[in-house]
Amino acid sequence: MTDALIKLRDIRRTFHLGEIDLQVLRGISLDINRGELVSLTGPSGSGKSTLMNILGCLDRPTSGEYWLDGVETSGLSNDRRAMIRNQKIGFVFQSFNLLPRTSALEQVMMPLAYTASGLSEREAKKRAVALLDRVGLAQRLDHTPAQLSGGQQQRIAIARALINHPPVLFADEPTGNLDSKTTNEILAMFQALNADEGITIVIVTHDPFVASHTKRNVHLIDGLIDSDTPNERMARLTAGEAAQRAPASMSPSATGATP
Ligand code: ADP
Ligand code: MG
Repeated sequence: MTDALIKLRDIRRTFHLGEIDLQVLRGISLDINRGELVSLTGPSGSGKSTLMNILGCLDRPTSGEYWLDGVETSGLSNDRRAMIRNQKIGFVFQSFNLLPRTSALEQVMMPLAYTASGLSEREAKKRAVALLDRVGLAQRLDHTPAQLSGGQQQRIAIARALINHPPVLFADEPTGNLDSKTTNEILAMFQALNADEGITIVIVTHDPFVASHTKRNVHLIDGLIDSDTPNERMARLTAGEAAQRAPASMSPSATGATP
């Protein structure tokens, strides 16, 4: 028995393209424990997004086992996997995936409509406001995406991903559309959420700079794990240091939490 939040055993994924079988994942075994901050890197076409779709219960492996928080998910029905997705997983995408003409507050509250959260409208709103405050957007509740910068839009997406208090956040190229300053800001945000709240985070990236800001790097080549390397420097980063790296508006003290 391990305490792994994520446990992959010999995951394979083959796509059938007419006569051709394309083996994209060729036997991935991996454990990720609670509280880890992991980057998943690899050349274009190495299977990062395919693996992420399986981790996010958006897709099923052709064979192999995927245990998430003690539940083997690969054999579950679509409905059960959708339920797990809503309760246990937050997603952040390269393109933010926000709705146009919808306020920041409404975007963040939206996933609550798909879970039996039991929250009243008032409680739901309170939770969403607290999260927007956490990501430094307390002053932007009524703004629509068009009125916000890319970094601010991604922070809305992060708040939305956390509304159901999932144990794990998956981010696929979350800084792919952002400049270097904003990339730093979003990385500091992930580090602070990981250090302060213990949220497990897996970031898919092609950017070595992003990977160097995680505590562990898993590198894929041709659908197999090529290397799995701890990042000692990042692993030593304490919650206080992570908070210091984050802009003032994102530090826990700005949300009234005691350090
Ligand atoms: P990465 O994210 O590392 O760039 P992907 O996981 O997106 O790689 O893709 C890996 C390979 O799998 C690519 O050759 C891609 O064309 C193929 N692939 C991905 N998804 C599908 C699909 N739904 N159907 C067929 N081929 C796919
Ligand atoms: Mg990809």
